[in-house]
Amino acid sequence: METASSAVIVAIDGPSGTGKSSTSKAVAAKLGLRYLDTGAQYRAITWWMVAHGVDIDDPEAIATAADKPTIVSGTDPLAPTITVDGTDVAGPIRTKDVTSKVSAVSAVPEVRTRITELQRSIAAQAEGGIVVEGRDIGTTVLPDADLKIFLTASAEARAARRSGELKGKEAADLAATKEALIKRDAADLGRKTSPLAKADDAVEVDTTDLTLEQVIECVVTLVEEKRAGT
Ligand code: C5P
Repeated sequence: METASSAVIVAIDGPSGTGKSSTSKAVAAKLGLRYLDTGAQYRAITWWMVAHGVDIDDPEAIATAADKPTIVSGTDPLAPTITVDGTDVAGPIRTKDVTSKVSAVSAVPEVRTRITELQRSIAAQAEGGIVVEGRDIGTTVLPDADLKIFLTASAEARAARRSGELKGKEAADLAATKEALIKRDAADLGRKTSPLAKADDAVEVDTTDLTLEQVIECVVTLVEEKRAGT
């Protein structure tokens, strides 16, 4: 892909709760790269569909509306932002309601085409390079990425981490968190258009028994090795 000469493109994929966001942000900040959270974009378009009364169970209605919202992602890893039609939606896109609906919206091919185009254009404009995290970055969005990482972890570890991010009553219900997470993974893995998948040339990192610092260090080393051509 065409970017500035020393720009490095890093794709980080994997299911929820593997530490993708924390790792991607920290790696980008340490190496002076931009950062793109593609899950936030799918959440943002889902938020817009809900706010505009689009029937989430009707893929045709979702497809028809897919090109209506304007989604803008700020790519500073220390302060990433996301707006829809000029409204800051960083908080609203993390609600349980949006989380439970995002897999259905993101399975609609018209939604994926729209968001994929947006992601490619952001990556192409990223001076110095970018870390892009998601589910299909290494396989579909940026198949020519310089480095592809696929993060995994046991369902127990993922549910425990996700639960730790939630507050109050939601956090207390670990079993429900695990169930919701497994359901979302199954939908993301099973959809027809660019499902969650490890690219053949991706480096798989199992984060179950690693601290966040260890995962960050591992990925930073892999990027530095790539940059050095080793
Ligand atoms: O990463 P996060 O959990 O915020 O992603 C929310 C949802 O967005 C995922 O469950 C998936 O349905 C969708 N997604 C996707 N492709 C990506 C990133 C996220 O389909 N590249």
